[in-house]
Amino acid sequence: MTISSQARQLIRDQQDEWELARKNYAGLKNVKTRKLAFDGFDLTVQFNPERIRSSAAKVDTKSIEARPCFLCPKNLPKEQKGIPVLDNYLILVNPFPIFPEHLTIPHINHIDQRIETRFSDMLDLAKVLEEFTVFYNGPKCGASAPDHLHFQAGIKRFMPIERDYRKGTFFQDAKTKNGMDIIRWTAYLRSVLTLSGKNKEQLISTFNQFFQGFKTLQKEEVEPMLNILVSWDAGRWAIHIFPRQLHRPWQYFEEGEKQIVFSPASVDMGGVLITPREEDYAKISMDDIRDIFDQVCLEETIFYQLVSEIMK
Ligand SMILES: [Zn+2]
Repeated sequence: MTISSQARQLIRDQQDEWELARKNYAGLKNVKTRKLAFDGFDLTVQFNPERIRSSAAKVDTKSIEARPCFLCPKNLPKEQKGIPVLDNYLILVNPFPIFPEHLTIPHINHIDQRIETRFSDMLDLAKVLEEFTVFYNGPKCGASAPDHLHFQAGIKRFMPIERDYRKGTFFQDAKTKNGMDIIRWTAYLRSVLTLSGKNKEQLISTFNQFFQGFKTLQKEEVEPMLNILVSWDAGRWAIHIFPRQLHRPWQYFEEGEKQIVFSPASVDMGGVLITPREEDYAKISMDDIRDIFDQVCLEETIFYQLVSEIMK
């Protein structure tokens, strides 16, 4: 049995053994969604009250230090089972799902959420979890445990970006280097850089080049702000990188009618926008979404310059 099928089996088994997982996966069947048609692509808004923990997670150092870490093996609920993978990681069922099959993949040690030296692990995970898209939320880009290294994975054919990638409508610049494609998207509300290829070392070194360039622009951050999606298909990796310039939009911090509790992370970048409060689900407009992505995603001219460097 492949790791990918074992992980899918784990999701089924845990719903029999673990009340919280059973309740929340059953609840997912009734979540409300609405589709918004933008110019040439769709976004889905999902009303998912269980995600309030993540969307409204306090990730400042003081709050983080004050709580027991929910990803450390010693703190996992007794019903929770895991599948060891790649020596140092554990595949777990995410008990607060967005996807009909949703995994959390923490490192076994309590070490900070950083991608620079772990990008290679992310590619390996995507390869063994070939039925899933693996994703990474930077410490200030949606990770609710910025102090404990982890990835997540969601079953494929769920996020609109997968379809948009196959169509290629929003590809602006594209360059192929020794079989690896480097693609910059445009007019897609979000700044997206896609790397696709078979050669792992080449993908890692190109990612590093981008990462180092971006790092010089965000020297005050512990790492440049990023969300990343990786999938493996027919012998090739497809990596979508979303550089960010802001953690949460101003609407998040408002009170009363102006407030929108929407804290964008990888899945939102992939086209499924999670609103944990029903009022936000009902009122969030296409203009709000344009405005929020505009605030949180790296500004287009800067993004263009960064990508030009790696296309040389
Ligand atoms: Zn921990």
